[in-house]
Amino acid sequence: MCGIIGIASNKSVSSNIIQSLKKLEYRGYDSAGIATIKDGFIDEKKCTGRVDSLEKILFKNPSAGFLGIGHVRWATHGVPSQVNAHPHSSEEVSVVHNGIIENSSELKKDLEKKGYKFKSQTDTEVITFLLTDLLKNFDLIKAVNKTLEKLNGSFALGIIFKKYKDIVVGARRGSPLAVGYGPDENYLGSDSYALKSMTNKITYLDDGDVCLLTQNKIEFYNSNNKKVNKEILTLSNDKNTADKGTYKDFMSKEINEQSQTAKNCINEYIDHLRKDINLYNFPIKPQEIKKIILIGCGTAYHSCLTAKYWFEEFSNIPVETDVASEFRYRKIKFSNKNLYIFVSQSGETADTFAALDMCKKNNVKTCSIVNTVESSIARLSDFVLPIHAGPEIGVASTKAFTGQLLVLFILAIKISQIRKEINENTYIKKIDKLKKLPDLIKKTLKCQDEVQIIAKDFLSTKGAIFLGRGLSFPIALEGALKLKELSYLHAEGYPAGEMKHGPLALIEEGLPVVILAPNDRYFEKTISNMQEVIARGGKVILISNKNNNIISENIRFTLEVPQTDDYLMPFLMTIPLQLLAYYVASLKNHDVDKPRNLAKSVTVE
Ligand code: GLU
Repeated sequence: MCGIIGIASNKSVSSNIIQSLKKLEYRGYDSAGIATIKDGFIDEKKCTGRVDSLEKILFKNPSAGFLGIGHVRWATHGVPSQVNAHPHSSEEVSVVHNGIIENSSELKKDLEKKGYKFKSQTDTEVITFLLTDLLKNFDLIKAVNKTLEKLNGSFALGIIFKKYKDIVVGARRGSPLAVGYGPDENYLGSDSYALKSMTNKITYLDDGDVCLLTQNKIEFYNSNNKKVNKEILTLSNDKNTADKGTYKDFMSKEINEQSQTAKNCINEYIDHLRKDINLYNFPIKPQEIKKIILIGCGTAYHSCLTAKYWFEEFSNIPVETDVASEFRYRKIKFSNKNLYIFVSQSGETADTFAALDMCKKNNVKTCSIVNTVESSIARLSDFVLPIHAGPEIGVASTKAFTGQLLVLFILAIKISQIRKEINENTYIKKIDKLKKLPDLIKKTLKCQDEVQIIAKDFLSTKGAIFLGRGLSFPIALEGALKLKELSYLHAEGYPAGEMKHGPLALIEEGLPVVILAPNDRYFEKTISNMQEVIARGGKVILISNKNNNIISENIRFTLEVPQTDDYLMPFLMTIPLQLLAYYVASLKNHDVDKPRNLAKSVTVE
């Protein structure tokens, strides 16, 4: 997951390249590098480690030039070293690359026969020499497209040329790439976040696109060398994102934008062309993982619990979940064969950070799933998976929860595919189903009127119970937590099968009991538990995707959610529960964005 930046300007670009690379550091920090065109020649500087080190080099020996590219690397081919750092340059071209060139060995042999001398062990350098070779006989766009034709695998590229000294070229297949339109300069970047401080006018490249940037224009070409037009999007800047828009409060905005945030997240990770997931710089070889430990607090802990079911179902890896505030003080038996995954919206959660720090001190491999990529947790962990949900302002987490679930699901199926614990067919089917999820979330969000009616029943109660089995159990916990946080009602989430071991004593006439019963292998069992609740006077709210007449007349409300793969039901089950908490709290005139006693980023123990 390297980071790429490119700038074509009418002034020196090196300082903006460095600032942007700092923002991209969450994507990789094995090495950093920059290339500019200075006095008609390619000036390349690179070093191992962080962008700070590169900045120091430039401080002593500045990189002049009005046009350049920069890179932060997370090595896939070749150790992290200066020589393997990007850019990779010949006399003629300089290339930065995010991705993997799967046929690099064969291409390298052919190029060596032609006399090209490779300096690095990377797969990227073949692009440099292929392009150098093809530029002898073809114009710029043709040479680029002919180069791309020869590459198997995934890439996002930034390229500068000695001969075309006012042009930066970008190209992508599989790995994300965006361009930004600035005043008197234009940009190329791995994500819009890196470009945001310079512009809010963005276009995303699609697979197969090539773009050509000069200081005052951006052009796009398809693989047939034909010019194409693309839409320019205006990004909401942070001030706007922190704006409620037409919504009454942030929480309703954040609940309602989940279809879009899910889409953004899926687009960041799914390679639509190859029907694959772009995840490859694992800190530990997936085949060698002996155990996964998922750690979080509050809602993030519930996403960990949900992911445990996914990992157990798809892979053969044993999984443990832990609440960070417990983990950090226990006598943990660490193992470097385990992968420790930390989930936190803000990336600043003090307990989660302390648990991560403990892992780092014990030299084990860590991965973090965060919304804020520049956060402390992201910076400290070996591997970062952003959830791409955009700022979440409401204290009770909603879109960040579904974002965490998404990334964990993606991680679970990718790791299982690499370990060959799910076959290719199943893997591709899961990706296909996942791509349909944003639309299903949108459909589910249409239940708002019904949920508003249901919410009224919670005004006269002193508490509520949420029940589910399997994947619906952590979602029941999350539903209860949301209701607690926002309505200040006593709410309990339980595995439905646990009721008769104690909590059934709580059921009395009129107590609201939310039953999550998707049409999965637990369905009949959950419905039996529901009948036990009804028999004792509980007021049942059934949420299911089974649309037949299991529906007993003693059920107070039934809410139907759309059909999808059983494994994706947690996403759809979550939406009505978020809305329920929201509407109950609104009816009680609570501040839904700032529930009492709580804070967004829990940076204290
Ligand atoms: N494969 C390239 C390298 O190892 C790029 C790595 C990446 O995108 O993570 O240098």
